[in-house]
Amino acid sequence: MQQNSYIAWEGNSLIDGSPIVLILTGFVFPSFNKKTGSKMIQSWILQQEFTPTHAAKEGLEVGICGSCPMRMSEIGSCYVNLLGVNRVYQKYKSGAYPKLSNNEIEVLRRYRYPIRLGSYGDPTAIPFDVWEPLILASGKHTGYTHRHENCDLRWQKYLMASVETETQARQAQSQGWRTFRIIAPDAPLSKNEILCRHTEDDTNQCETCLLCDGASSKPNIADKVHGLNWKVSNFLKYLESTSN
Ligand code: SF4
Repeated sequence: MQQNSYIAWEGNSLIDGSPIVLILTGFVFPSFNKKTGSKMIQSWILQQEFTPTHAAKEGLEVGICGSCPMRMSEIGSCYVNLLGVNRVYQKYKSGAYPKLSNNEIEVLRRYRYPIRLGSYGDPTAIPFDVWEPLILASGKHTGYTHRHENCDLRWQKYLMASVETETQARQAQSQGWRTFRIIAPDAPLSKNEILCRHTEDDTNQCETCLLCDGASSKPNIADKVHGLNWKVSNFLKYLESTSN
């Protein structure tokens, strides 16, 4: 019987060698994420040994997040709701998730469910060759990395480089990446950017938009910082510090 969630891979992080896991959810039940849409398969990259909230608080999430400046132990503006991630982790630790098999890859291929690469965690912490069969079977994905300076460059064709400043965006673009830049609510777009389609009109969702799918002639994307007020405030303080 088709399960909702599967362990797609367990192994050592390509970032720091710590034990991590890739979990896919959404094969049966829709996701309630208004931005990504209900049909997207979500992917969770988690430390095997630490509850996500604990890891984030103590800075123990390097193996899945690398040196992402948005981490809770850094700027403290990661938009992911870690309580939801804790629930995925607890189910994983309870042994509730079966291993992904060729059957589920066939389901992806047949139904063409889009995949969000890294609903939490940086996709590049997991070997490229683990992801690519999933990406190719689905045929539709979105994904982002904060590790565009250090990762396997084959990722350029599937992931956006996540950046926070125009300088970072220009650098990443000059190295062949398309960029996804988080901006202050009132900040202007750069000439080669468009606003996230969902922010432009909230009837657009990632599952059909799919603009954030890696290198191509499509425009770069910018999106207004969003989330809890204190996270937005931390992000704005960070932006201010980078302009000094
Ligand atoms: S531009 Fe499209 S794919 Fe990218 S985040 Fe916005 S809605 Fe999702």
